This record gives sequence, C-alpha cells and structure tokens, in this order.
Amino acid sequence: MAFCRTIAALATAVQLQGTQPVPALDSARLIADLSALAADSMEGRRIATPGGARARAYLLRAFTRIGLAPVRDSFPAPFVAKTRAAELTGVNLVGMIRGTKHADRYLVVSAHYDHLGVRNGVIYNGADDNASGTAAVLAMAQWFKSHPPENSVIFALFDGEETGLLGAKAFLEKPPVPIERIVANVNLDMVSRNVKGELYASGASPFPVMKPLLDSIAAIAPVKLLLGHDTGVGESNWIQQSDQGPFDTKKIPFVYFGVEDHPDYHKPGDKVEHIEPGFYYRCVQTIAEFVRRLDLALDRVAAVRVGH
Ligand SMILES: [Zn+2]
Repeated sequence: MAFCRTIAALATAVQLQGTQPVPALDSARLIADLSALAADSMEGRRIATPGGARARAYLLRAFTRIGLAPVRDSFPAPFVAKTRAAELTGVNLVGMIRGTKHADRYLVVSAHYDHLGVRNGVIYNGADDNASGTAAVLAMAQWFKSHPPENSVIFALFDGEETGLLGAKAFLEKPPVPIERIVANVNLDMVSRNVKGELYASGASPFPVMKPLLDSIAAIAPVKLLLGHDTGVGESNWIQQSDQGPFDTKKIPFVYFGVEDHPDYHKPGDKVEHIEPGFYYRCVQTIAEFVRRLDLALDRVAAVRVGH
C-alpha cells in the first residue's frame, strides 16, 4: 500500500514537470491501470484462461468509462486460432474515436494485453510485458477523447501475442474496417523500464515516411528516443517480434515502440515494483505526441500506403 502511494506521488510529480508541448496524460490512472493488470489476481493474463478473462473485463470497463465507440457492434472481437499444441479461442478488444476530418481513414494504436500466465505454480505478472503498453493505450484513448483526432483512431488490445501474434493476425485476417483504409499502425510492447532511459522506435527503415516524424519527436521527447531494430543489419530485428509484424506483412506502415530486453523479460520478476514510473510516464507522453503528429500528417503516409 505504501508502495502504491509512493508510485502515485512520483507519477504526479512527473506530470507537473512535464514539458510542453507533449500531451499531459492522467499519470495516476496510468499507474493504477498497469498495477491492476499486473496484479496476481490476473494470473498472468494468458490467452483462454480465467486470468485473461478478468483482465478483459477490466479493460472493457475502461473502454466504456473512456467513452470509446465500438467499430463493429461491440468491443470484444473473438477469434479461434490453431497453434501446434491446441485450438485456442482468444478475444481482441477493439474500440475507436471517430475522426473529425477523415472519418473513413484509420490509424490503429495497439498493444497486447495477454502474457504468459502461470507456470509451475508461479505467476508471470507481465508488468512491463505488456501491462505497460496496454495501460498506455488506455491513457492515449482518454487523451484523444478530449482532443479529437482528424482521422479515426482504432484502439486495439490484442490477445494471444505471446502464443504467436495470434490476436494481431486475426485482426488483419478479418479487419473491422476495409484493410486499405487502415493507413498506419502504432504498436506498444514493453515501455516502462530501461536502465539507460532509452526508448526505441522501429519502423522507419521499412517505411521511411515515418522518419521525419520520428526525428521531430526525438528532438523534443522527454526520453532518449532511438530509431532502430528494424533492419537486421548489425542489430536484432524486432519487426516480427510483436504485433506490428502482421501489419508489416500486409504492407501497412507501422512504428513499434519498446525497450530493449531486461533481466526480468519473460521471467516472474517482471513485476510492478520493477517498473520505473517516471520513465514510463515520459515514454507514454512521447508516444502520444507521436500519434498526435502522425494523425496530422496522415495524408503523407496515406500516399505511401496507396502506392506501396
Ligand atoms: Zn510483449
């Protein structure tokens, strides 16, 4: 409990120091959402488990509270996927904010909410991977609700990423809007801790249209924003390592935001007490500002998307 108060106080202090013009987000809510998703009661949020269902119920309440609209008839988008081991039913959560200028053009802001579940009686909480990205998507949805975008923004929380990017693949196999209307994807996976204070943005190499935008963000970002991990030359290539992969496969321009692996990656130690609230908040501000500018520059990306 004392710990929670410390985090809340820290998050508030960070918000007050926030430098304009990056969006001021609800930092207390951000930390509360991450903490709730990474709680033991969620049992590691594995696809097709009661813990995953509890996380989903929490996220559905958040979608409703924020006031998102469903893209189709409701937020949950169930899918069935075959893996080598089993046939699994997963559920993506998909909501949107309608654009004020180009309502029929879509940006997809995504994160996976599933994690590894319970193994040998040990809960894998997945605080950084990927309660952090999930809570960040909620914070951005809340911000855009009061600062409506020009293009429609779909907020997609994917299931089954840890089992083979299942939710993102299902989303793109049966997209809720015509796939040619999806102009770009911004995916978040692990954005809450890095000992060097570095956040990576991948995607400018396969989609150079993103580079000037990312450079402009790097110049003002309250964290150290590095571009890379998207060529495979002299570095590990992350393109197919998270849910941006299926977007890349469909030639949809994307930017992935995330940190380099840490010692707790896919370990039981990926817990709330190991995230860095100040760094996390500044990462989410950075990404929110990127999405804001991407929305305003979407004509340029759409031109590339059509010709790709
Ligand atoms: Zn992940």
